[in-house]
Amino acid sequence: MPELAAVVVDLVNPGTNRAFTYSVPVELAGRVRCGTAVRVPFNKRWLTGYVVPEAAPPVEGVRSIAAVLAEGLFTPAGWELVRWLSERYVCHLVEALRLILPPRAGAQAARARQFKVGLAVPPEEALALSRELERRAPAQARLLKTLAEVPAPLARARLLALADAGADSLKGLLRRGAVSLAAEAPAAAGKNALRADLSCGVPPELTPAQAAAAAAIGAAVKEGNYQAFLLHGVTGSGKTEVYLRALAAALAEGRGGIMLVPEIALTPQTLERFARRFGREVAVLHSALSAGVRYAQWERIRRGEARVVVGARSALFAPLARPGVIILDEEHEPAYKQEESPRYLAREVAGWRARQEGAVLVLGSATPAVETYYYATQGRYRLLTLPERIARRPLPEVTVVDMRAELAAGNRSIFSRNLAQALEETVGRREQAILFLNRRGYSTFVLCRQCGLVASCPRCELALTLHQDSGRLVCHHCGYTALPYRTCPRCGSRYIRDFGCGTERVAAAAAQLLPAARILRLDGDTTVRRGAHDRILSSFAAHEADVLVGTQMVAKGLDFARVSLVGIISADLALHLPDPYAWERTFQLLEQVAGRTGRGEAPGRVILQTYNPAHTSIVCAGRHDYGGFYRAELARRRRHHYPPFAEVVLVRALAPSEEAARRLLEELMARLAAGAVEVEGPAPCPFPKTGDDYRWQAIFKGTDLGELRRRLAVEVPELNAGWRRQGARLSVDVDPMSYL
Ligand code: ADP
Ligand code: ZN
Ligand code: ZN
Repeated sequence: MPELAAVVVDLVNPGTNRAFTYSVPVELAGRVRCGTAVRVPFNKRWLTGYVVPEAAPPVEGVRSIAAVLAEGLFTPAGWELVRWLSERYVCHLVEALRLILPPRAGAQAARARQFKVGLAVPPEEALALSRELERRAPAQARLLKTLAEVPAPLARARLLALADAGADSLKGLLRRGAVSLAAEAPAAAGKNALRADLSCGVPPELTPAQAAAAAAIGAAVKEGNYQAFLLHGVTGSGKTEVYLRALAAALAEGRGGIMLVPEIALTPQTLERFARRFGREVAVLHSALSAGVRYAQWERIRRGEARVVVGARSALFAPLARPGVIILDEEHEPAYKQEESPRYLAREVAGWRARQEGAVLVLGSATPAVETYYYATQGRYRLLTLPERIARRPLPEVTVVDMRAELAAGNRSIFSRNLAQALEETVGRREQAILFLNRRGYSTFVLCRQCGLVASCPRCELALTLHQDSGRLVCHHCGYTALPYRTCPRCGSRYIRDFGCGTERVAAAAAQLLPAARILRLDGDTTVRRGAHDRILSSFAAHEADVLVGTQMVAKGLDFARVSLVGIISADLALHLPDPYAWERTFQLLEQVAGRTGRGEAPGRVILQTYNPAHTSIVCAGRHDYGGFYRAELARRRRHHYPPFAEVVLVRALAPSEEAARRLLEELMARLAAGAVEVEGPAPCPFPKTGDDYRWQAIFKGTDLGELRRRLAVEVPELNAGWRRQGARLSVDVDPMSYL
């Protein structure tokens, strides 16, 4: 009786959302266990699979594992997390499994310099050639077939083993020109990831509030069981120092910790603070690192060489054994939600992992998510508060400027008189200013003043934004670009004008107002090139510029002592979006960006321009009144049945025609017959078309949607398989963070 193993294959379709039984050849016995990557035959092809700790019931005609590709990729605890993720977020097991696998699993990028072999011809051609060679040169045929079935080049030695071929056969193929060799350089072992400055890691003396918070968390870490905290500290109250102490406490217990920061806040500034304190114990994981560097970091964590993991949301899945603490800084950030399958919410996954591994969970924010704060009042999280800034610095004074009154007074500039004057004063005092507008580009839309035509995206049917730097009209939804028109394509008129304002125009207006000032811009357009983000911030930090203009990239995490003015060009951009989170997002963003000033000796001030000065989000941000906003927003959530008072599942149908999107969604609704659940829709999405897809949606709400999720897990993959040829598909978003 051969040994059997349960294997999940790396193929997403409705039939493969489970483990399959394979037999283990004797020569591989001992290497095939949980976390081993294997090569297996599956129907008529070869697939990569992963051995999982599940029962492997005997099956008739069981097939055999062909090779071991890698070992020790995950633990049984990791597999449990995968199972939970798949159930909770209604995704395929392999999609969830990919989260915990090393970057480029099996590629072993960090190994010594080695040759990789790839196809030099398209896979179809390779397969055709393989059939031709089958008789004359069977080993060459096998090599081609193996290569045609894997997406990426394979290491030479592994290819020869998989295809059971010799070096001469490979040489034969090289001579035919069917394959090519590529040398893979070994990864620089995380060297560039971090400037490890070990010199000045002396911790400051804690303030009484910091000390109390650190003591409570430290005691919990020492106990070594799951406990959860909400650290509610105003901007500049020294939350990071509390996180550092919590990590140190975990290290003292012989455990480690995971520190998540929103991707946007992963600046060299932030990383250096951790590197200075923990030196070589720190590993950094985020998407801007090359795969090789990421793999090297992953390996260091797995081997226990680095026990402090700092990174964006995916760092939550780092192979750290028994973390003692898991921390989410700015826990309210939408960046903690993954907007592709598996659509997980890091805050929730962190809670699950902390429970499973007996770790302490710390959620920190100046503006906690309404859900989080509510749970803290219900006792699910213990509330710790840092009510004051370090050194008793006051929070910046906020002046709310009503832009309707500016217009009435004849001021048509994008700067109110107040802001213009404040900018001149600030720069005159050799202090720095940040100007915030959450929209890229020069102007928002381009209009023909004769016939009213608005330049719009032919795919999304939404207005195009003018970008002067690149000299193009750009669709911010799908990336479509076009040349600006000189004459109207409809009526031929030359009266074309652009309206509205983006960061490019703010920077231009600032340059006009302050001719001697040095101005930098930080947004999605100026940070396309690798390293540009860091360069701009370092330059501003070194006071090589007086004004920093930017999108939400300037709103978060920055700690510059010389910034004494923040100008919010328009607080209203997101306020009226058809999204239940629009008010909360606006309040949080305003409070965060306001928090960038007054962090040094000079007192800070904020000028907030708006057309809605009486709106709750604006009024509360103007007073730094988190409590007031929380109460108003909680009441609204209760009235409209949104979290924390209901669970929400958002199902979208995307298709090449509106008709298909509607029919697919209606077919799903018929199959679900969701009785007790409240449903909104089916209806077109707020943005009914993006790119080539028409979009319809249905919103399900209820106090327990477990049954609905289980039904969706069955019906959605089936419908998707059936509709694939029509290019239509459903997507499921549990706890959506964006409804647009
Ligand atoms: P937050 O994350 O709450 O906005 P930070 O952690 O960035 O605040 O801290 C604000 C500033 O105060 C940082 O420059 C930090 O180095 C400094 N700081 C933090 N704690 C102390 C302390 N106990 N004594 C002196 N300075 C501190
Ligand atoms: Zn026209
Ligand atoms: Zn578009």
